[in-house]
Amino acid sequence: MPDGDQQRQMRRFAGSCRFVFNKALALQKDNYETGGKFIGYVAMAKQLTAWRNDAETAWLKDAPVHPLQHTLKDLEKAYKNFFEKRADFPRFKRKGQSDSFRYPDPKQIKLDQANGRIFLPKLGWLRYRNSREALGELRNATVSQSGGKWFVSIQTRRDVEPPFPQGGAVGIDMGIARFATLSDGTFYAPLNSFKRHETALRKAQRAMSRKTKFSNNWKKAKARVQKIHSRIGNARRDYLHKTTTTISQNHAMVCIEDLQVRNMSRSAKGSAEQPGKQVRAKSGLNKSILDQGWFEFRRQLDYKLAWNGGHLIAMPPRNTSRTCPCCGHVSADNRRAQERFACVECGFEENADLVGAINVLRAGHARLACEVSGEVMPPAAGTHRSDSVAAQCRA
Ligand SMILES: [Zn+2]
Repeated sequence: MPDGDQQRQMRRFAGSCRFVFNKALALQKDNYETGGKFIGYVAMAKQLTAWRNDAETAWLKDAPVHPLQHTLKDLEKAYKNFFEKRADFPRFKRKGQSDSFRYPDPKQIKLDQANGRIFLPKLGWLRYRNSREALGELRNATVSQSGGKWFVSIQTRRDVEPPFPQGGAVGIDMGIARFATLSDGTFYAPLNSFKRHETALRKAQRAMSRKTKFSNNWKKAKARVQKIHSRIGNARRDYLHKTTTTISQNHAMVCIEDLQVRNMSRSAKGSAEQPGKQVRAKSGLNKSILDQGWFEFRRQLDYKLAWNGGHLIAMPPRNTSRTCPCCGHVSADNRRAQERFACVECGFEENADLVGAINVLRAGHARLACEVSGEVMPPAAGTHRSDSVAAQCRA
């Protein structure tokens, strides 16, 4: 519940962070093109000091320095994710796209939960509406804006009793027709949050395009478009959280295929030499994949299982959709239709996604048996993930 002054300040701080991120990214790119080595965080932070002291960009001094520095850490992380093939190359930030900044130093933050207020450097005391109690030692605070509202996320650290996992093992197959199918037969309908709001969004976008750009009516129409966007985001987040909470609370081990969503969405661009129906179909699939939030689903499952004492096992995809769970016959002919699995060898028939989930669970069990036998040391918790382990298992 910031006042007008604080809102203006926060917009400026978010803008300063975006400016620093983009400037550092441009510098990194130029440096690379002229044959220079990657500029690490420490060297980049020195650049930031220079920018703050430069008369042309002296306004950067109005923003708190720690959030600016943290932006450079974010950029370094984005590069790291790119180098390790987890993400695309870092992109320049645009205004209004996840406007946020983080105060990384807990010593500078004061949290007064009893009175519903928080003190942040250069902003002073801000009143807030509490979503839940913050337990433990305060670590950092992130301020963000979404749909015209401001949020503060508080990260804390505390010791918890090691939990005892509940339930057994389950395999999951991710799909388009069904968002997730469990090997016990349960399945989760696709969210299609985008489709549900698509009509409303299209209408609002059309209304916006009819207005004179930057006029008051245009601004109003734009706010409406942003509101629908944020509603779509909220619905999706809510669905993902509910699903991952249920699954992680009821299973000690979850096996999932190590889908490389990034590669899948890449391949649409790659097939551009043969444009036409297939490209359009592929990009439709991409939109579906990205819209469903599979990455986020996996990320949440991973940490929620760890919270509950369970763990996630990510298996490299290997014929999971083409292997018969009944007789073991592997053939592409087993799956002539998208939704139906029918073994050409033994005649076993089942929903294709369920077959996938059963096979993923089996592969997970095989891998675990291998770890227990002492061939591979299992990590204490968290995701088990490596192709080499799977290779050892088969050997
Ligand atoms: Zn069969």
